[in-house]
Amino acid sequence: MPIRLLSAQTVNRIAAGEVIERPAAAVKELVENALDAGASRVEVILTGGGIDRIEVIDDGTGIPAGELMLAIERHATSKLGDEALVRITSLGFRGEALPSIGAAARLTLISRPQGQDSAYKITVAGGEVGEVAPVAAGFGTRAIAEDLFYATPARRKFLRSVRAEADAAERVVWRLALSAPAVGFRLVSDQRVMFELPAQDEAARVAALFGRDTAAALLALEAERDGVVLTGLAGPASLSRATMALQSFVVNGRPVLDPLLRMALRLAYRDVIAAGRHPVAALRLRVPAEQLDVNVHPAKTELRFADANGIRSLVIGAIGRLLSRPVSLAGAPAAYAPVRSPATAPGPALQLYPMAAPAPRSSIAARGFAEAELAFGAPPLARHFAPEPAGQDHPLGAPVAQILDTYVLAVAADGSLVIIDQHAAHERLTEERLRAEFAAGAVVAQPLLLPVVVDMAASDAARLLGNAATLQRLGLEIEAFGAGAVLVRAVPAALRDANASAMLQDLAEELAESDTPVALEAKLDAALARLACHRSIRAGRRLELAEMSALLREMEATPRAGTCSHGRPTFLKLTKAELEKLFGRRGM
Ligand code: ADP
Ligand code: MG
Repeated sequence: MPIRLLSAQTVNRIAAGEVIERPAAAVKELVENALDAGASRVEVILTGGGIDRIEVIDDGTGIPAGELMLAIERHATSKLGDEALVRITSLGFRGEALPSIGAAARLTLISRPQGQDSAYKITVAGGEVGEVAPVAAGFGTRAIAEDLFYATPARRKFLRSVRAEADAAERVVWRLALSAPAVGFRLVSDQRVMFELPAQDEAARVAALFGRDTAAALLALEAERDGVVLTGLAGPASLSRATMALQSFVVNGRPVLDPLLRMALRLAYRDVIAAGRHPVAALRLRVPAEQLDVNVHPAKTELRFADANGIRSLVIGAIGRLLSRPVSLAGAPAAYAPVRSPATAPGPALQLYPMAAPAPRSSIAARGFAEAELAFGAPPLARHFAPEPAGQDHPLGAPVAQILDTYVLAVAADGSLVIIDQHAAHERLTEERLRAEFAAGAVVAQPLLLPVVVDMAASDAARLLGNAATLQRLGLEIEAFGAGAVLVRAVPAALRDANASAMLQDLAEELAESDTPVALEAKLDAALARLACHRSIRAGRRLELAEMSALLREMEATPRAGTCSHGRPTFLKLTKAELEKLFGRRGM
């Protein structure tokens, strides 16, 4: 075939594939246009995950009737004053979103700038441009994209479920709303109002979008390095989540999913958050324009920093200081306790306190931070008990001491020494009990005397409610309770004293984590493990002798009790023979 130039329509369809790879991307472009137009209020209405219809309404500057035709042209933009691409201050600048959406879908723009006596409308469908015609409408712009990818069926095949596309599109609006707290936002998805937010300050916006309880625990941070300014809110170590869903990064006003920033955050928390858990943070960076390239990817969610190492150190340093702040200086002491701060490390090893002399625990820690393993006001190194001999049929032996309120020390009838991690062990027991009940189709639900209302992000609530029938099989009965809240009527009996709010939050994230068609069973299995974790005895809880004995006896009777659900051992055992070998009392 000879070389020829592609038609404008084909070029636009190719570009559409890059810029608009799924409904969420179209939502992002349209909302960015609204923000670039200086809107003080943006409304987004999604139908069928945005595949059927996306509508974005703003009260911004509008597009003059004479420019409507140009707005949908490729490479046409009103935003690029600096064609050297250095000082880019708007969210858009490539002039390809509207033509791309118009190539893949049916796009209608209705717009009326201040001073224009009527609104005008233009339609592009599969690249075919219609007439510009007057219509009745108020000031601002209304962009409607319908039947996404009807003109590019190859792309349509790659769409995931409606729920997954809706999730992604809602997340995009959630991120943009976080980036622009001074703009009022309303998001409606399949007739459900996901959020409706007035113009507000940053802290109020984070509270509305992260959930009030979570936001209350966050700590403010501020740091500067070589002209780069970092501000925002970040969680204490105790606030980890199952996914990265509650992490937001805004760079020069642009919400980004930047790998460098994510990695820096992960490193900052590496020593204080368990592997597989993720910190919570809403961070904002202001970088001098010439040190930043936003034109790395058509979707503009990744950046290139001139000084990547500097940015990384800034983030890691600021959070490191936050995590090691003494409690009395912390912004939200009720939920904060430093872990592994050198000043609060436990004293010299091998010093046994008698039972009667527990070190005083700070009341703050006890109240807000049940999980503060070894945090401060160190627990007694050991509390010991008069041994009560264990029978031959009890290989894990009889408890003789609890160490650091975390490990149980036991001695078996044959002289073996056993050390049990109380949290890991209990987690496994709870999980196995739930699993057995679940397999028998008989998870015992415990109705709550007073139903609990759990506030959460509306999208999380929607996801949980969408799975209500499944959750019922797990003994969890929930109902809708207005936007952004779920009413819990019953919980699995095995988990009756777990924290319902944390449990639901984790479940919502578990359900969102992968939207590939994973077998439902696999998801339920993961959910069981997560639920079990919530009920389990915390490291740091003082146990009575009877509780310790009961724990050991139940472990002996439970399958797979040797490891916790994360695969770590629940106990270590040193037999009499092994001890003799270690002390050289016996030939090797
Ligand atoms: P870009 O945003 O990169 O400039 P787009 O294709 O998204 O490219 O938009 C093209 C142009 O249409 C914009 O530069 C802007 O002038 C105009 N425009 C698009 N949406 C709006 C809106 N909601 N309000 C005002 N003007 C808009
Ligand atoms: Mg744009």
